[in-house]
Amino acid sequence: MTLEAEFERVSMPLSDPFTISRGTQTDAENVIVRVTDEGGMTGVGGAAPSAHYGETAATVEAILPDLLAAVESVGDPHALHEIESRMAGVVNGNPAARCAVSIAVHDLAAKRLGVPLYRLWGLDPSRMPATSFTVGLDTTERVREKAADAADAGYPVLKLKLGTDRDRDLVDAVREAAPDVRLRVDANEAWTPREAVEKTAWLADRDVEFVEQPVSADDPEGLRFVYERSALPIAADESCVSLADIPAIADRCDIANLKLMKTGGLLEARRLIAAARAHGLEVMLGCMIESNASIAAAAQLAPLLDYADLDGSLLLADDPYDGVEMPDGEIRLVDQDRAGTGARPVGGN
Ligand SMILES: [Mg+2]
Repeated sequence: MTLEAEFERVSMPLSDPFTISRGTQTDAENVIVRVTDEGGMTGVGGAAPSAHYGETAATVEAILPDLLAAVESVGDPHALHEIESRMAGVVNGNPAARCAVSIAVHDLAAKRLGVPLYRLWGLDPSRMPATSFTVGLDTTERVREKAADAADAGYPVLKLKLGTDRDRDLVDAVREAAPDVRLRVDANEAWTPREAVEKTAWLADRDVEFVEQPVSADDPEGLRFVYERSALPIAADESCVSLADIPAIADRCDIANLKLMKTGGLLEARRLIAAARAHGLEVMLGCMIESNASIAAAAQLAPLLDYADLDGSLLLADDPYDGVEMPDGEIRLVDQDRAGTGARPVGGN
């Protein structure tokens, strides 16, 4: 068997500028990877590099030729373990670049077998969490409007970014605009441990479900301090990057927030899910701001999750790929009539 691979950078404008405690972005640069077999069947994946983890579109493009050469040398799109393992041997880190290739090869393998990827894994598509929709930092009035719009659009779960001196005002604005939604908050490392504990008390009074990454990932003892005193469950995101982090966070949080772009591939992501469960953690799958070229793959894992935060494409004004439908936040794998991840070019087939 032979495989051929190519890649392309896409710059996608966001519907609204997106701000978290670390900064603002107005567009998302992803790198789309396509792997084609000898019969002309193509699998697609996407890299959504995060500067926070040391990757940019340029670093992805720099390493992809070596990763794709490794895939072509394996030649068999069903040799998924071998392909991920060889890529990990090509380069340390660079997880978004490796993940794009892993997704494309998984998409191709499932397409060749004529089944959606979740079927290849034997997962039950009838029970899974709804995805949250994220409201970024903004003026209090804009946060109120965005929360009302999201609730009107039918999203049952909102995630609000925090980490400012206006955190109380922002939460109150969302609660006024959308009193019935399930609400989570994400501080993206912005709080001190003592500040975080204090905030969990009043967040609990406002019926918040859990708090994501309250303190710096560089302060594991601070995370433990918060976890032991918090009025709410704690999710670890920036503190939970690779498989080795799972045992390290197991006694410091309640929920592991995984992202495909942190793990480096779909097989590795499934290992993290299993490891998190083995350590008694609940599992959340989040995302970067991503095209459906990769979000569709994340959606295939949804039956394994307690919480889904797969709104990466929903935040885009223009995504060149369609993926798994998410009406009202409901991840509709059960309706998927396409083999593979379900990603396809807009207007294509
Ligand atoms: Mg987060």
